[in-house]
Amino acid sequence: MSDVILEATSLVKHFGGSDSWFGKTPKVQAVDGVSLRVRRGETFAIVGESGCGKSTLARLLMRLLEPTSGAVMFEGKEVSSVSGDALKTLRRDMQFIFQDPFSSLNPRMSVGKLVGEPLEVHAPDMSAQHRRDKVAELLRKVGLRPEHAGRYPHEFSGGQRQRIGIARALASGPKLIIGDEPVSALDVSVQAQVINLMGDLSRDLGLTLVIIAHDLGVIRHMSDRVAVMYLGRIVEMGRTEEVFANPRHPYTQALLASIPSMDGSDAARRPVVLGEMPSPSNPPSGCRFHTRCPHAQGRCKEESPTLGSYEDGVACHFWETLAIDTPLPIPSPRSDATQARFALYRAATEGGTVTHKKPQPETATKQHREDHL
Ligand code: SF4
Repeated sequence: MSDVILEATSLVKHFGGSDSWFGKTPKVQAVDGVSLRVRRGETFAIVGESGCGKSTLARLLMRLLEPTSGAVMFEGKEVSSVSGDALKTLRRDMQFIFQDPFSSLNPRMSVGKLVGEPLEVHAPDMSAQHRRDKVAELLRKVGLRPEHAGRYPHEFSGGQRQRIGIARALASGPKLIIGDEPVSALDVSVQAQVINLMGDLSRDLGLTLVIIAHDLGVIRHMSDRVAVMYLGRIVEMGRTEEVFANPRHPYTQALLASIPSMDGSDAARRPVVLGEMPSPSNPPSGCRFHTRCPHAQGRCKEESPTLGSYEDGVACHFWETLAIDTPLPIPSPRSDATQARFALYRAATEGGTVTHKKPQPETATKQHREDHL
């Protein structure tokens, strides 16, 4: 069995650009040439500013959207070409957790129905009693009680509703779960519980997770590898520890440096990204970051840098020089607000029954260990 469970190759998604009553609509280049690989059992994070295309990318990976061009392979099969029973199997193996746990749950359905619905679809021969038992087991697994099956979504808090969403995602026995900002609508303390729950489930059930988030604390806490997106393209990708310790792309450096410190002591030495992100309907030529990059040179406007790898790379012409010349603005571990959040996660971890960092399965860690030796 291949180590790679999910692979995207030159994925492109453009919206608009068609004629309408009001003239030609602008073509929005939401995702433009993304290639990546997700290994079995790992937690892969996609991070970037709002509007960078990360949610569109998540939907393309799930085939909730059809790509303009490019391909997504899940376990060696092209996602966009499957139909009928093969598509049903794909839906069983890949599940999605939505950002807003309230609007993603049908308010007219009881929790038992919501969690049991995927079982009705994917295991139609299962008896009603067996299904009820399975729902009770799933609710226990996500920290709810079996008697909650008779209640409705509005009777629960945000964190509990997200647990219901996770139980529903788990019901079909997926191999991969994609979470689009799964905790951003929750309070910080509840975020910690849900993140730790997802980490535990991932470890215990051998799940692969793809997490979309803009919260760097969440990313650093729970992911093994990270891809940083800017204006529809991945600008840096690598192991989370390495990207956070040694960000190589100017955008990643600025993104990490934008994490506010508790005392503001390092504000003066943070690299600043000037201006707003350009519109994806009219992206800059060459390197899309050149209009905001403090290191931009003539070549950057003409030539688009490439990542060069599906698993690790930096899309910048000059990153090797920049890494030497530019002092890394890593926030102090003591004053960094992210560290404060980690402490909260750790407190939630130590105070409860959950653990915060899952060890990777053998398939995902072998290469990592070899690389570290
Ligand atoms: Fe900045 Fe040029 Fe590198 Fe783009 S290619 S990130 S503009 S230095």
